[in-house]
Amino acid sequence: CGIVAYIGSKPAKPLLLEGLKRMEYRGYDSAGMAVLNGKLDVVKTVGRVAVLEERINKHPGLKGTLGIAHTRWATHGDTTERNAHPHTDDAGTIAIVHNGTIENYAALKKYLQGRGRTFTTDTDTEVIAMLIAELYEEPGDNPETTEMGGPTRGGLEKAVQAAMREIRGAYAIAVICEREPDTLVVARKGSPLIVGIGASEFVVASDPSAIVAHTSQAFALEDEHVCKLTRAGIRTSTLDDVPVSPKVQQLELDLEQ
Ligand code: GLU
Repeated sequence: CGIVAYIGSKPAKPLLLEGLKRMEYRGYDSAGMAVLNGKLDVVKTVGRVAVLEERINKHPGLKGTLGIAHTRWATHGDTTERNAHPHTDDAGTIAIVHNGTIENYAALKKYLQGRGRTFTTDTDTEVIAMLIAELYEEPGDNPETTEMGGPTRGGLEKAVQAAMREIRGAYAIAVICEREPDTLVVARKGSPLIVGIGASEFVVASDPSAIVAHTSQAFALEDEHVCKLTRAGIRTSTLDDVPVSPKVQQLELDLEQ
């Protein structure tokens, strides 16, 4: 199982597909991809990445330069297309890929159903998508500003921080949202996640093998840290929004390995 995500100026689709292929050796039962280009396009399937590739090649969309992709090893819910990642919230505007398991998903699901959320899969992951949607506030609602001099904070980054404070379990996640076309948010606890830093582009993956073809500058995201990536830069913080400075290192990995 594995995650790969991209934000930059290149078409995300071939890059994500290549990343999934490089991580196939880790084992998986389903694969999927979401690309944001105004709207979210989601394609997923049971079986090999080659099957996903066929579907993707027939799909007219998936043309954006921001996207997330996944190979699944089912833990909650059968191996079906519906349960494959990416998952979205019930409005279909937030998409997430996740490796790991959420221990308190049943209680959270009950809470969210009580708030009127309609679930369509059996996964623990869908609960994270709904929780992020539930906690989402428009970026403009928050008067604080980022250190990057970017737009006001809030939005997806804050919603992910707040959601992950409620989650018990292990996770590596990558999240995108239609309301923020220049934002990728990733977080981890337990499951690995590496952020590769290129020139005005970033590749995030569970495994360095999906990153080395694009950049050798990278850092391992630490447990219970969140990273917001835009095409202009990144911001890393704790779940309580305390900024942290990641230790960027040189990736050393033979591509043929
Ligand atoms: N628990 C999630 C699921 O069953 C993610 C599994 C994984 O790590 O691939 O869908």
